[in-house]
Amino acid sequence: MNIQQIRNATLIVEYAGKKFLIDPFLAEKGTYPPFPDSARQDQNNPLVDLPTSIDHIINHVDAVIVTHLHLDHWDNVAKEVLPKEIKLFTQNEEDASEIKNSGFKNVEVLQEDTVFADIQLSKTKGEHGRGEILKVAGPVCGAVFKHPNEKTLYVAGDTVWYEGVQEEIETHQPEIIVVNAGDNQFLEGGSLVMGKDDGYEVYKAAPNAKIIASHMEAVNHWTLSREELKNFINEKGISSNVLVPDDGESYSF
Ligand SMILES: [Zn+2]
Repeated sequence: MNIQQIRNATLIVEYAGKKFLIDPFLAEKGTYPPFPDSARQDQNNPLVDLPTSIDHIINHVDAVIVTHLHLDHWDNVAKEVLPKEIKLFTQNEEDASEIKNSGFKNVEVLQEDTVFADIQLSKTKGEHGRGEILKVAGPVCGAVFKHPNEKTLYVAGDTVWYEGVQEEIETHQPEIIVVNAGDNQFLEGGSLVMGKDDGYEVYKAAPNAKIIASHMEAVNHWTLSREELKNFINEKGISSNVLVPDDGESYSF
């Protein structure tokens, strides 16, 4: 497999010969107002440009996975540029309806036993924060990819560390794990995705896996920088386990 970090949670995953696009957020730098009640109110989103062309991102995509409908995972540009016939997986019927309302015709709700082109895709649990903020943040999912010729990949999505993530790791024994690790937050309510301590818990639950930190430094409410995360993993002695890609960087496994 090859995993390319595009920007924010947007990834290109080439797996068992198929190209998956995860959480397409494709607008130019500065298109949208900042998320409110959070850091950097003077900066529009996305904070940075795409590292590559839209054509590179969307050409020959076999399927898109949208883990939830927040703007930084599914935006107007994605809706405009993706072909309306493209295969698209969502977390639930509600998201599927909304995406169908945007004109997409081939939308399927991800299950725990979805099969796409001989690849087993399993929807995974997630919690987009802790406590009260969960009501505002709403439901999310991740996905596990399995194929006889590939290592098992777990894309955790916008979730903090909690027992649900631990269960998914125990169930699927992924060898590669992508976590959204920018510790994005509003001024109140705590982490919406993983921070460095959450990432360390993932490492402890899967000490032999390669963990890739995505969703970093691309929308205004991030609170954990790549540099701070790299310093942390160096201090913990786990820099060969946790990869912190720049936008555009890719890995083959
Ligand atoms: Zn997000």
